[in-house]
Amino acid sequence: MAQPRTEQSGRDAAGPADGAGLRTPLRTAIGERQSALFARAFGHHTVGDLLAHYPRRYAHRGELTALADLPAGEDVTIVAEVRHCETRPMRQRRGSIVEASISDGTGALTLTFFNQPGRAKELRVGRRGIFAGRVNRYKGVPQLTHPDYELFDDDADADIAAWQSRPIPIYPATASLPSWKIARVIRETVLPRLGPVDDPVPQRIAAEHRLEDFATALRDIHVPLTDADWHRARDVLRYQEAFVLQAALLRERERVRETPAVARPPVPGGHAARFDAQLPFELTDDQRSVGEQIAHDLAQPVPMNRLVQGEVGSGKTVVALRAMLQVADNGGQSAFLAPTEVLASQHLRSIVAALGPDLSAELMPTLLTGRLTTAERKRAMLRAVSGQAQIVVGTHALLGENVSFFDLGLVVVDEQHRFGVEQRDILRAKAERPPHQLVLTATPIPRTVAMTVFGDLDVSTIAQLPAGRQRIESFVVPLAEHPRWEGRVWERAAEEIAAGHQVFVVCPAITAKETEGDELEPVTGREDGGPVSAVALVEQTLAAVRSNPVLSGARIAALHGRMPADEKDGVMRSFSAGALDLIVATTVIEVGVDVPNASAMIVLDADRFGVSQLHQLRGRVGRGTAPGLCLFVTTAENGTLARERVEAVAATLDGFALAEADLELRREGDVLGSDQSGGRSSLRLLRVARDGEVIERARSDAAALLQRDPRLEDHPALVSAIADRLTDRSRDFLARA
Ligand code: ADP
Ligand code: MG
Repeated sequence: MAQPRTEQSGRDAAGPADGAGLRTPLRTAIGERQSALFARAFGHHTVGDLLAHYPRRYAHRGELTALADLPAGEDVTIVAEVRHCETRPMRQRRGSIVEASISDGTGALTLTFFNQPGRAKELRVGRRGIFAGRVNRYKGVPQLTHPDYELFDDDADADIAAWQSRPIPIYPATASLPSWKIARVIRETVLPRLGPVDDPVPQRIAAEHRLEDFATALRDIHVPLTDADWHRARDVLRYQEAFVLQAALLRERERVRETPAVARPPVPGGHAARFDAQLPFELTDDQRSVGEQIAHDLAQPVPMNRLVQGEVGSGKTVVALRAMLQVADNGGQSAFLAPTEVLASQHLRSIVAALGPDLSAELMPTLLTGRLTTAERKRAMLRAVSGQAQIVVGTHALLGENVSFFDLGLVVVDEQHRFGVEQRDILRAKAERPPHQLVLTATPIPRTVAMTVFGDLDVSTIAQLPAGRQRIESFVVPLAEHPRWEGRVWERAAEEIAAGHQVFVVCPAITAKETEGDELEPVTGREDGGPVSAVALVEQTLAAVRSNPVLSGARIAALHGRMPADEKDGVMRSFSAGALDLIVATTVIEVGVDVPNASAMIVLDADRFGVSQLHQLRGRVGRGTAPGLCLFVTTAENGTLARERVEAVAATLDGFALAEADLELRREGDVLGSDQSGGRSSLRLLRVARDGEVIERARSDAAALLQRDPRLEDHPALVSAIADRLTDRSRDFLARA
């Protein structure tokens, strides 16, 4: 429980009982004008929104810049005293200049304000404050022009020692709402009038973890007297955030399970059993055990919601196909959703091949994509609605209003990150009873991310690769230091082709104007986004390789998303059939493309791609009998973050290790999808890379609570916290990330 504290300047004890609550509109609490600023800058609308605007960090007097060693051109924060202040007219134009001189005892600095005569009244000689801005030099004298500042209350001088040790909260801020202004509104207006707040974490759980109460934590995070205050508060709020999120996800999971599904148990001697008997290889242990989990899930009258993650080439498709056959054995149909047309048709081909002629004839796997001719499309739709086709493979076209199924029992979503929950929900709505769902992803997900982002799904992992997989060697080709190595890259390509293999070349963009931007991961840590013309382009690269004498005679084509669909498919088919030696492509080949004879992958401007994208690209080679070669060509300088990412991928083939490394190299926002507004949907204090323990603890606490009180009837504060946290938008955002 909170200890009553002695009242200190700038800090009030709990407010009046009839004070503002977390749902009170900000307008009511801090006035029209101020609240408009917060709404515009951060999307805050309630007292709760503002109080959840936590400081980014805390500064200390000791860390502040001393005036004696002021760096030029840098942002500084200085605690100093006003020594002199004068107002004078400007020379050239009309108007006035206020110039104040401040000192911290080690040096002096000039503050300059143009046409703000009111400053002179505030900056009286002898007043102390904190000043922030960028140092510039005018005629050799260091100065701050229009700095942000906050003057200390005069009575703070009385207890200067306490004041000096007090952490200074530094908030995420904007030009119109500098950190100190946010601090002041919270400290002087909002906290003093805050009424009782309901803690979404039940008393018993808080006590068990020795967490102080919510109201105290809110005060301590915003107005700490010591570092220990905000440390304690942050632990409380971090746990609370994890708890609310996990409770929300687990409840969502239960909600989906409330409507019964049709049980589709294994049928001895059925299609699935026949398929297993004719498999040309042994399933790996992981494929087998994940397969058993799925077989068990499908046999329940509760909708399955399972995510299967496994390295590229780990054999997820086979696992999904076995599930589809089990459903077919019970008369149910399966829809297999692929993110692109190329992948959908490739999946259909490989499913037909894997089933063999007899099973294919019985199950009639059918393609349903947006670009079929009207007649083909009609036929495919008829097969779906009549139940003739037991397996329907498609793209978004499957979501079309006029597509219906006779008895949809299972939805498989391949490479989930391109499908949102909404789309899964649309498919779910196509069945009378909710179908079972299987989501496949080759993007390895660290456990804590899985718990946070896919907390409403059960997760299985295929960690093993099938035996006999070829090794892949990866190299960085650093053109910054070795510009001539580029020639060697094309020689290597020619060598692979001469040995009867095929080569992928991947570029970040198609033409100078048209990027496949949405297929590029947002890359952080690169100071200059760089003009698109500065990166390798498909068109240029195509021309360059075609005229490169070392590649003369090679059969070369381009492949990218702006090509007409049948042309694209034609190129992919020719490449698969070995009629092309080299394709220059964009990331359209990133997911799932399976050409066992392709042995080399050359990624140009590799630093333009994200870690997981590079890893995915690399997975396109080494799928056949020849070892894979992957060359990451980059002009990024040694030591830059961009280069570090590429080196990280080249250094390991372990997708899970890479996912962890990626988490550290990226900003958190990029892991969960970024939310520019800084509004309610992004994680606040919780960091999935760091807070695994807190997340796990919160998840098991939430699970235990939900077991006792499934509808949270005795926990209204938690119910409303969940509602605030997971608006529809953010729910979608969480699942989509
Ligand atoms: P993923 O979808 O996980 O990337 P796939 O299911 O496409 O992997 O499998 C990649 C290749 O490996 C396919 O050609 C598939 O037939 C083959 N394969 C799958 N499982 C095994 C296994 N247990 N042993 C040998 N080859 C396998
Ligand atoms: Mg696959």
